[in-house]
Amino acid sequence: MQENLITPTPSAYAFPLLVKQLLLNAMSIHGEQEITYRGERRYRFRQFRERIGQLASVLRALNVRHGTTVAVMDWDSHRYLESYFAIPMMGATLFTVNVRLSAQQILYTLNDSKAEVILVHADFVPMLEEIKAELKSLRRVIVIADGEAVPANTLPLAGEYEALMDQASADFDFPEFDERTKAATFYTTGTTGDPKGVAYSHRDIVMHAMSTAMSLCSPREGQRLHREDVYMPITPMFHVLAWGMPYIAIMLGLKTVLPGRYIPERLVSLRESEGVTFSHCVPTILQMLLDASDVQGKDLSGWKLIIGGSAMPPALCEAALDRGMDVFTAYGMSETGPIVSLAQLPPGYQPKDRQEEVRMRCATGRPVPFVDFRIVDGNLNDVARDGKQQGEVVLRSPFLTKGYVGKPEASEELWAASYLHTQDIAVMGQDGFVRIVDRIKDVIKTGGEWVSSIEVESLITGVAGVQECAVVGVRDEKWGERPMAFVVRKPDANVGVEAIRDGLMQHVDSKRISKYAVPDPDRIAFVAEIPKTSVGKINKKLLRERAVQ
Ligand code: AMP
Repeated sequence: MQENLITPTPSAYAFPLLVKQLLLNAMSIHGEQEITYRGERRYRFRQFRERIGQLASVLRALNVRHGTTVAVMDWDSHRYLESYFAIPMMGATLFTVNVRLSAQQILYTLNDSKAEVILVHADFVPMLEEIKAELKSLRRVIVIADGEAVPANTLPLAGEYEALMDQASADFDFPEFDERTKAATFYTTGTTGDPKGVAYSHRDIVMHAMSTAMSLCSPREGQRLHREDVYMPITPMFHVLAWGMPYIAIMLGLKTVLPGRYIPERLVSLRESEGVTFSHCVPTILQMLLDASDVQGKDLSGWKLIIGGSAMPPALCEAALDRGMDVFTAYGMSETGPIVSLAQLPPGYQPKDRQEEVRMRCATGRPVPFVDFRIVDGNLNDVARDGKQQGEVVLRSPFLTKGYVGKPEASEELWAASYLHTQDIAVMGQDGFVRIVDRIKDVIKTGGEWVSSIEVESLITGVAGVQECAVVGVRDEKWGERPMAFVVRKPDANVGVEAIRDGLMQHVDSKRISKYAVPDPDRIAFVAEIPKTSVGKINKKLLRERAVQ
């Protein structure tokens, strides 16, 4: 029985936490702020608001209603940003399609989500043609020609995006509805089984935006977001709502730069020409930015960059710091909003030395507001906060996904004992700084010891001449498992097996890792590249398969 509730006067407005409310400040104060697509097309926030109305009118004419799923397949663009708002604001569900999946996986996700309308960039039309016959719910397709002619196709075409927008009315009365309404969905591709659908409500999106913005805006200096920042995403907008950052940028009224397809030279040029100061990406993209800026002789200093999706290798962090970038890590997963911790340096922090600062920036950071972030043993008891005791990260927060779409068993497993189980192993220090040690399934159990693949990777990447590295466990009769390292050399470097082992042995001597963590000589392989998943993470499943071949 609930007691002591406030009884609102009948006329009081309930103010549900809806995506449309993120626009309030943007429109009343920042109407003249700019949004640009590749620096080629430019408009103001007030036109953005009009275009949101136009897109909703276009979709309504196609009979998109409350609860209809509308899929988007596009590069990072103003169209994507418009759909981030217009589709949920109608009460429909935005489905951000991972365009890097195979045609068969995309087919599965489009059918599973029951997408009725698809907004598709011309580049992906051939893929859609390939699977068209098997799409069960698809009714209409809007092609985004992006300044070119609409490619020949046999899709059930409604028209070209800009042509439809030109004809549509900006007046659209966005309704009120329950904040728990499904606003957006996308799929996570686990290492086994079909992709799993994750959905977020309006309330989840708004709460996540508030939590992340609060964290990013609170420090006086460093690793922060402020009014005069210029924002450019470099995480594909199909990936976990690009970590919620586009919503934050609009909520705060920041100039927003949408870079289109990621071409490293263009990203670095846009950063200069548009004055970009704040971005986020996975480690692989950071490496590309560094390489492109070296070739073009561009200055990257002052660029604040959140690295997420995987651990940031310390050598990469150092290379970015050398160029004056302010790089720091975020941690989270598709199911967690995603951002639940940020590696912002504490106020007044004076690093002992460079190495310690790099370690802090590469750590997983401190939990953000509204997140109950625990590291627990198998009985859900907190492990000691001494930076050594390992446990699983379990979470509660208002914006975590409430379960996988249509997968009750997997959902209950995710939420066992009413905590979201991340399957990440971590340690927490006295200062609240968390360090992810490994995924539960990636940790290497060798000779009775648990070896962190992430730690060995970061130490190998610190050996001179190493560009990139991935470490996986391979079955071993005697030890249970042994680590195997796949190493990419820097161009013109000739680092060999012994240099890697010698580099690691130094850390055995200093007791940072155990001797079991050092791969045997025949388990260090030099390769041309490390395979990556569709969202740019090391594909450990594939590497484990390769390791036994
Ligand atoms: P996904 O749901 O595909 O985004 O993957 C989430 C997983 O990526 C997490 O469970 C972690 O294992 C890993 N991850 C994300 N961010 C970090 C980070 N900063 N450090 C280490 N691992 C990370």
